Amino acid sequence: ETVRPAVLLTGPVMEDVVERQLASRFTLVPIERLADVNPSTVQAIATRGKVRVDAALMESLPNLQIVSNFGVGYDTVDAAAAGQRGVVVTNTPDVLNEEVADLTLGLLLATVRQIPQADQFVRSGAWLKGAYPLGPTLRDRTVGILGMGRIGKAIARRLEAFSVPVVYHTRRPQPDVAYRHYPSLVEMARDVDVLVVIVPGGPATRHLVNADVLAALGPNGILVNVARGTVVDEDALLAALEARTILAAGLDVFEEEPNVPPAFFGLDNVVLLPHVGSATHYTRAAMGQLVVDNILSWFDGKGPLTPVVETPWPRP
Ligand code: NDP
Repeated sequence: ETVRPAVLLTGPVMEDVVERQLASRFTLVPIERLADVNPSTVQAIATRGKVRVDAALMESLPNLQIVSNFGVGYDTVDAAAAGQRGVVVTNTPDVLNEEVADLTLGLLLATVRQIPQADQFVRSGAWLKGAYPLGPTLRDRTVGILGMGRIGKAIARRLEAFSVPVVYHTRRPQPDVAYRHYPSLVEMARDVDVLVVIVPGGPATRHLVNADVLAALGPNGILVNVARGTVVDEDALLAALEARTILAAGLDVFEEEPNVPPAFFGLDNVVLLPHVGSATHYTRAAMGQLVVDNILSWFDGKGPLTPVVETPWPRP
């Protein structure tokens, strides 16, 4: 009798989409029950980024073959260590581009036009005492995008429709876009008055947006972060918002989410979201399906569908 391969679930990974489809072929092991199973039966991990998939966890699973990450960002998976062990890592690119770009434009407009503050103004009855004060505009602004990958391009396309000029900073210029490329982030920040952050997280991008970048963005500057909290120096951002050395910020992500520094709550120049960039039924289902399809394709011997750059397929 052959033992069914086990898939370790590091947290709730779209129960209805992922768990239902995998349950017929695999033994599903929630991470809390890992101690109850023979670790050598675990051949796959489906993960959602709450628990780190690090070298030690992979080391403890001698027959691990694939880590299928729910989300395009996989900064909680040690993909380099996986590559060294011959373990393939997959993520969920593209299926969330338009959703995250929609949310980014919504957050940008909410921040510039103070939509949550204006909503509060109506609810509190303040309108009865006078009109809402005039505020800042998206007109006359240039948006600098930090990151011009799959999602950055979807954001840029939307900004074009808003008649807003776009420039960007990445390490290498993108061959397929006509926007001006800045080799220096600080120089771009000096030239723009909106900075939209949409790069991967992890050590390579930690605190890319630091006090110098915020100072360069200047007193009319607006920061929108939909990438990872770690990309922005949160203390420097709080200081800049409090001193009004930048105008405002719209944040979907935080350094130690869901712990948001309470100092943000007292500021009237921030819009705060609970990491909802891709959080719709439609897009989360598509992401869950891609988590499943990567695992099924792998165990059908057809290789991974969307391997990450650290674990290329076919293997070089
Ligand atoms: P891509 O890999 O397609 O694009 C990443 C972009 O970032 C590339 O243009 C890359 O260019 C640039 N980049 C990477 N490292 C650096 C660096 N050190 N300095 C400057 N630029 C850099 O990723 P996606 O667009 O698919 O996704 C981007 C990220 O968005 C995800 O990794 C995830 O963390 C985040 N995200 C957040 C969501 C949310 O809910 N808020 C939802 C989905 C994604 P180059 O390599 O040339 O530097």
